Amino acid sequence: MGMLMIKCPTTGRDIPTGIEMDRTSFTNAPVFFSRTYCPICRTNHEWFAKQAWVRETRRAAKHKVLVTQRT
Ligand SMILES: [Zn+2]
Repeated sequence: MGMLMIKCPTTGRDIPTGIEMDRTSFTNAPVFFSRTYCPICRTNHEWFAKQAWVRETRRAAKHKVLVTQRT
C-alpha cells in the first residue's frame, strides 16, 4: 500500500491526500476528481487523478539503496 500524494498548487510542496492506495489499483482506477485539505495553505485543493501519484515508502527505500550501491 502507498499514500496518494498531490502537489500543492500554491507552494509546490508534496502533500498527502490521506487516501491509501497501491500503485496497481491507482493505475487501474477510472479518472476521478477529489478534494484534499492542505495543511500548508489551510484550504481545500481540488485535483484530478492524473495530478496525483502513489508514494510507496518501502519501494522508495529500496530504490535508494540501489542508487547507493551503484555510486
Ligand atoms: Zn496548498
